[in-house]
Amino acid sequence: MTQSPLIFRKGLDLKHEVAQVLADSYHSDLVAAIKESDHRFESGRLTLHLAREFGFCYGVDRAVDYAYQTRKRFPDRTVYLTGEIIHNPHVNDQIRAQGIRFLSDPGESFDALTPADVVILPAFGITVDLLQSLVERGCTLVDTTCGSVLNVWKNVKRYSDDGYTSIIHGKYWHEETRATASQAYEAGGHFLVVLDRAEAETACDYIRRGGDPARFLERFGRAVSPGFDPGLHLGRVGCANQTTMLSSESLEIGEMFRRAVADRYGESGLNERFRAFDTICSATQDRQDAILRLLDERRLDLMIVLGGYNSSNTCNLARICAGRVPTFHIADPAGLVSTDEIRHKPVDGKQEAVTQGWLPAGNTVIGLTSGASTPDNLVEAVIRRLEGLSNAG
Ligand code: SF4
Repeated sequence: MTQSPLIFRKGLDLKHEVAQVLADSYHSDLVAAIKESDHRFESGRLTLHLAREFGFCYGVDRAVDYAYQTRKRFPDRTVYLTGEIIHNPHVNDQIRAQGIRFLSDPGESFDALTPADVVILPAFGITVDLLQSLVERGCTLVDTTCGSVLNVWKNVKRYSDDGYTSIIHGKYWHEETRATASQAYEAGGHFLVVLDRAEAETACDYIRRGGDPARFLERFGRAVSPGFDPGLHLGRVGCANQTTMLSSESLEIGEMFRRAVADRYGESGLNERFRAFDTICSATQDRQDAILRLLDERRLDLMIVLGGYNSSNTCNLARICAGRVPTFHIADPAGLVSTDEIRHKPVDGKQEAVTQGWLPAGNTVIGLTSGASTPDNLVEAVIRRLEGLSNAG
C-alpha cells in the first residue's frame, strides 16, 4: 500500500535561523548601495547603470530559502534535490556545499530512495509521474514549486477539463514546461509545445488548411502529448506559456492562434474554440520591462547580461538587449577575461564564444542586468571586475 508522504509546502518554520547564512552566501552591500543611488555606479572611466529589476525573483528566493531550511530541519537525514534547484551553477554549488545531494548527478539514483530520505522539489516543479514515484517511495517532500508555475498548471488543467488542447509556448525540454505539459495530460487533455513563431505558424497552418498528420508529428516529435492527432486536437485550443518566455513573443503567438481559429471557424467560432491566458510571471515581466526602460532612457555602449546559459529568463533578457546594443551574456564574472577578451553566449548560439575587443577605450557606459536565478554577490563581482578592467592602464 502507498504511504501518505509528509509534504512541506510552506517552509519549515526556520526562516530566521537560515537568514544569516543566506545573507552571507548571496547578499551584496555594494548592490544594495547602488540601488539607493538611482541604480547608477561611477568609478573613473566607468559609468554603470543597473536595471531597476534584476536578479533573484520571489520564486527563486523562496526555493533557496526552503532548501537551507530543509538542511537545518533534517541534519541527520539525506537530503536530495531532484535536479538543479535553479539554473545557476554558483547557487547549485553552494547548495551542494550544504551537503544536499542532486539526484541528477552521476551515481545518484531515484531507485535508491527510501522513506528515510528527504527530497526537495525545485521552483519550476516536477512532472506528475515523478511526483507519483516519490510519493510511492514514501520520501518526505519539500515542495518549492513557485506560485506562478502553479498558476500555469491551474490554467492548463482547466483547458483539459473543458476539452481544450493546451498550446504551451515554451521549450519542451525545460523542466517547467515538461511539468506543465504533464499536468494537462494528467487532467485528460492534450498538449502541443511551440518554441517560437515559426513553430506556431506550422501549427496555425494546420488549423487553417489541415495537412499530413505524420509530417506534423515528425516535426513536433516529443513536443506533443501521447496519441496527439492534429486533425482532432487542434480543433479547440487554449494558449499558455512557460513563465520565463519573451512576453512580446508569447502574446504574438497567442494572437497567431486566435487568427488561425477565426480563419478556420469564423469569428463566431472563437468563443467555443479558443482561449488564452498570459502566464508569464510578474518577475519575468518586470525584468523585461526594466530592460526596455533602461535601453530607452540611457545611452549605453554595451550591455552585460549575467546568468546561467541554460536559464530561460536570462537568455530572453539578452535577446531583448541584443536588438538594441552590443550585448554579452556571461555566465559568471570569469567571463570578463580581460579588456580585450570576453567569454559569452551569443543570443542565438548554443556554444560559448570568445569575442576580442569588446570593451571600448576611454569613458564607457555599461548597462547591467541579471537573470532571476542570479544572486547579488555575483552581480557585485561583475561590477568590481568591470571597474577594474575599465580603469586598467
Ligand atoms: S521566474 Fe517566475 S515562475 Fe519562475 S521561479 Fe521566478 S517568479 Fe516563479
